[in-house]
Amino acid sequence: MIPLAEPVLGELEARYLTECVDSGYVSSVGPFVDRFEQEFATAVGAAFAVACASGTAALHVALRLAGAGPGGLVAVSDFTFIASANAAAYTGADILLVDSEPDTWCMNTELLHDEVVRRANVGERLPDVVEVVHVLGHPAAIEPLLELRRRFGVRIVEDAAEALGASWRTGRVFSRQVGTVGDLGCYSFNGNKIITTGGGGMIVTDDARLAAAARHLTTQAKVTGEHYVHDTVGYNYRLTNLAAAVGLAQLERLPELLRAKRAIADRYRAGLGGLPMSPPPAAAWAAPSFWLSSVLLEASGQDPGAVVAALADDGVGARRLWPPLHRQRPYRSAERLGGAVADGLFRRGLSLPSSAGLTLADQQRVVAALASLLGAVPAERGTAP
Ligand SMILES: *Cc1c(COP(=O)(O)O)cnc(C)c1O
Repeated sequence: MIPLAEPVLGELEARYLTECVDSGYVSSVGPFVDRFEQEFATAVGAAFAVACASGTAALHVALRLAGAGPGGLVAVSDFTFIASANAAAYTGADILLVDSEPDTWCMNTELLHDEVVRRANVGERLPDVVEVVHVLGHPAAIEPLLELRRRFGVRIVEDAAEALGASWRTGRVFSRQVGTVGDLGCYSFNGNKIITTGGGGMIVTDDARLAAAARHLTTQAKVTGEHYVHDTVGYNYRLTNLAAAVGLAQLERLPELLRAKRAIADRYRAGLGGLPMSPPPAAAWAAPSFWLSSVLLEASGQDPGAVVAALADDGVGARRLWPPLHRQRPYRSAERLGGAVADGLFRRGLSLPSSAGLTLADQQRVVAALASLLGAVPAERGTAP
């Protein structure tokens, strides 16, 4: 079976892990944690980075620090992995789901902008925080959110769990990496993400006070220099030195992993050109990371579930996209703006094998399997007379 997304691990990871074991520092204090944080911050262009036990933990702490809490409101992308909304729900805040924008599949930030302006004019409750997700590696259009922050003080938490290394190519955020423009940005190092620590996450920020508070909350809110003195309800959310050793090795490979992801997306774009499907989204103003190359079936009535099942019979590990959060039991009664675009993505979309280690031959097998299933000739072969 050609997997959807499997990690690329090698000698460097093994060497750092061995060093870590030999040092005896295997828990959440140790030199690999410090190095991973520093080098991660440098790699994305943020001032501070705080390693966490998971991406979900990172989001939970970031949202709390941004001001999410009981009685408040957090605007969240409707079309995302459920962890985005769960992290907001942990804070006790109410949730406002915001539909996607068809070109990027990310939050329709213009729609949210206009709704916040409308609410402000009539005195309705505004979100305290926007949690914007860079979906499947594509940057969200963030400038309308910067405007909301400027005008109404709405804080921005970026869920960049899937988008490490993606950036913007135009406008006020030109050449900035996702995760570094909001008040806080979060990443995941789960096994299937762009880099992995087995499980882990990171918070980045340019604000020294927020970074210190993140470190404090993720270590049981222990008061520095005192034993067993804690000043608020904190969490045991730190990353272990063992995991950070793997993370540091993965980070050294990041340019290579991103090149591989982008090459895979380019080859799908070329190879699937003649088939009734739209290619992985890539707006002209964005440099996506293409964490997963995902496509939409164009023929009406075609069921992505059936296509995924047929591909599995051919040894190809594809997967459907997420049902929108407004269809998930915990969030069915949440407030929402739209939802039809997210519904359409679920009805038509699937992700194709996108491991950084995917071979050319395996990718050709994926394209050929799709071509024979959808009854058309792929573009590259269709050019012969
Ligand atoms: C993976 C993911 C998360 C959660 O990260 P974990 O490390 O698995 O906790 C959050 N948001 C999005 C969009 C993700 O894809």
